[in-house]
Amino acid sequence: MEFDTIAAISTPMGEGAIAIVRLSGDQAISIADKLFRGVGGKRLKETASHTIHYGHMMDLKTNEIAEEVMVSVMKAPKTFTKENVVEINCHGGIASVNRVLQLVLSNGARLAEPGEFTKRAFLNGRIDLSQAEAVMDLIRAKTDRAMNVALGQMEGRLSKLIRKLRQEILETLAHVEVNIDYPEYDDVEEMTHQLLLEKGSYVKEEIEKLLRTSHQGKILREGLSTVIVGRPNVGKSSLLNSLVQENKAIVTDIPGTTRDVIEEYVNVRGVPLRLLDTAGIRETEDIVERIGVERSRQVLKEADLILLVLNYSDDLSSEDENLFKAVEGMDVIVIVNKTDLPQRINMERVRELSQNHKLVTTSLLEDQGVDELEEAIAALFFEGSIEARDMTYVSNSRHIALLNQALSAMEDALMAVEMGTPIDIVQIDFTRTWELLGEVIGDSVHESLIDQLFSQFCLGK
Ligand code: GDP
Ligand code: ZN
Repeated sequence: MEFDTIAAISTPMGEGAIAIVRLSGDQAISIADKLFRGVGGKRLKETASHTIHYGHMMDLKTNEIAEEVMVSVMKAPKTFTKENVVEINCHGGIASVNRVLQLVLSNGARLAEPGEFTKRAFLNGRIDLSQAEAVMDLIRAKTDRAMNVALGQMEGRLSKLIRKLRQEILETLAHVEVNIDYPEYDDVEEMTHQLLLEKGSYVKEEIEKLLRTSHQGKILREGLSTVIVGRPNVGKSSLLNSLVQENKAIVTDIPGTTRDVIEEYVNVRGVPLRLLDTAGIRETEDIVERIGVERSRQVLKEADLILLVLNYSDDLSSEDENLFKAVEGMDVIVIVNKTDLPQRINMERVRELSQNHKLVTTSLLEDQGVDELEEAIAALFFEGSIEARDMTYVSNSRHIALLNQALSAMEDALMAVEMGTPIDIVQIDFTRTWELLGEVIGDSVHESLIDQLFSQFCLGK
């Protein structure tokens, strides 16, 4: 395939002082070569592939040095896009990277559309669609752990599994074809029936397994939704602040959903948390009292984790007891705060109310107990079902939708087999499953869907 040469700012993963302008296309190297003056007059055109060169970008109009740069030259086809790729590293951050971008744009490159680099990698056959989407997840990944999942998917784990299932379906259909065309035995009908049931059930179970991981995928991408509850003045906001200060706050592009809650993203020992301080705005009102136990249960139900805060130097109140009722059956960590003050709380009663929830005492004022709390959060997360790092995560809503459709097509097929429906009808459902699975890895998608998907990407990827 042939495309024009595109360029965009592509900030590297870790972020830092270095910013990159990336070019891809036939003319990528010659455009960079026109602008580049290497030490000792070295020409980019004449260099070997996958080499890095130090020098300057020139403003050809004024013939003055525009920027000090390091340029990587990568020749097709061993590149991300399978095209010629040049990456211009600028040390001066965003201002200088913009200048370099303007230079390449006025010398033959076109500004890339969002996701266009990844789209080319897909169109040139370098990656399949689920891998392309994994790149998109990677861009959005909020923490290292989420990144690992995205990377695992990029390596094609999901694709591999889905290919295997499709192959299974194809072979089954072929087998059935043969049975029908060349019946070797008298009981061919019974054999075909058995075969379809067996293979169909296997495919169905595998799809179900994949779907079961999808919730975990969502958590890893969006963070464990964590709600901080407690009476006014117990230290909710202090807790939020201390978790944010101690842990790298995660920069997010997801806009806050409601104005009534303060929302922060943090990474606690590898666990991505989306922290919500419910009463952050209305300090004087008790959430449970205000909206009732039933309603607040409703609100809290959507949380993955509850941090319930109590005051060590105050008696337990009915509000506190109500809170325990409201979070029954959920993942809860109970925090008894203000241990630097004289005790008034009845710890025995607290333990009773906490049942098997983890209980932590803190003095946020004196920075005590936060480590233990973080440990408890990590333990809850990693000792749960989410631990298995090497499983295949489905973390993309389009994949989930397609897998659900594939699952119900297979369920239809199995039901049809059970009811003794003619084989050619059953075959339709098998084929439909095969097609839907194909859509996950992009084997049977149409152009419009592809365009729509890639337009969601960040610029420069
Ligand atoms: P919220 O209403 O639950 O959000 O509580 P805040 O975080 O706003 O805290 C209420 C007050 O308690 C503030 O004056 C905090 O400085 C204070 N506070 C928070 N944690 C502690 C603590 O561990 N010990 C003491 N003595 N005061 C604390
Ligand atoms: Zn507060």
